[in-house]
Amino acid sequence: MSDQLVTAQNFLAHPEVLTTASPPVRLAVLGDPVAHSRSPAMHNAALAALGLEFRYVAIHASAEEFPTVVQTMARAGWIGANVTIPHKYAAATVCSTVEPYAKMVGAVNTLVFESGEISGFNTDGPGLVRAIREEFYVDLRDLRVLLLGAGGGAGRAIACQCALEACERLVLVNRTFEKARALAQELAPRFRSDRLLGPSDRCLAIPWETNALREQIAQSDLIINATSIGMKRTDPPALTGNLLTPNLLIYDTVYSTARTRLLEEAQSVGARGANGLSMLLHQGALSFEIWFNRSAPLEAMRKVLLAPSPAA
Ligand code: NAP
Repeated sequence: MSDQLVTAQNFLAHPEVLTTASPPVRLAVLGDPVAHSRSPAMHNAALAALGLEFRYVAIHASAEEFPTVVQTMARAGWIGANVTIPHKYAAATVCSTVEPYAKMVGAVNTLVFESGEISGFNTDGPGLVRAIREEFYVDLRDLRVLLLGAGGGAGRAIACQCALEACERLVLVNRTFEKARALAQELAPRFRSDRLLGPSDRCLAIPWETNALREQIAQSDLIINATSIGMKRTDPPALTGNLLTPNLLIYDTVYSTARTRLLEEAQSVGARGANGLSMLLHQGALSFEIWFNRSAPLEAMRKVLLAPSPAA
């Protein structure tokens, strides 16, 4: 076990070991699995860059252990925590307050502990907004977005962010169509405005079929892949080049591979593409800002993310 990975069992047996360590551990990411998480390295680099004498670890917690771990942290004066798969939904239920965007998504990825109280935030969507601006020099709200994988956790977070931003147009695509349709119904009222297009033209779901995709891609500026296709090097491209055009921006939320097959297809037609590392960076930076109420040292964090992953 690395010094950055702790089991919930060990933590709960002796919580004081971490808080009395030097420097004291006051931040963590909670997940199952969590050993692969890049968050400890990214946040420890940020803490070091700012001379903040705290440490950040990964805590492997099962669904049964998760609430007790969080409550123990809150009582023991921890600063906060990140939450990853599969606890983001449970995290929303252990908080005394949940900010509106996290409430809308129904999932929390950032916890803040203050005077024994637990507050919940979600930085995935706001992190994507910053990533899109950084990668493509455009604002999400000005774009017509086609979202692949709208039925997954990341897809829902991104779709809700697009709705909050009231982006020009949002087309939801998912292998299991019913999930995309339900989400489109939920979000369409947020697209009501005096713009030329009505809410049902500005927010809709389509099945994952070539003709429907081709028709909607022709009316899109940005394609976001929020499916898990591309996480394995052997995965096919989420979309093939014959559906893509040079004017498109392609953002692949997958960050385990520098260039997914989708990004290779984008490049082959001359479209601009970026992988999910910038979203990972900015969601982490936003968590850091919430905990410390100051800007995160982005370049120190980015350097860690760009270094080859030990798991790779
Ligand atoms: P999830 O909840 O399990 O959702 C997976 C999604 O992928 C679902 O929409 C699923 O469709 C779809 N999918 C899976 N296999 C597919 C296939 N063969 N063909 C078409 N669709 C398929 O997972 P998640 O947590 O949302 O993660 C999804 C992706 O987001 C991952 O690649 C992850 O790396 C990325 N992510 C990135 C960041 C970042 O910071 N960059 C943060 C979070 C997540 P069905 O609904 O039909 O099953």
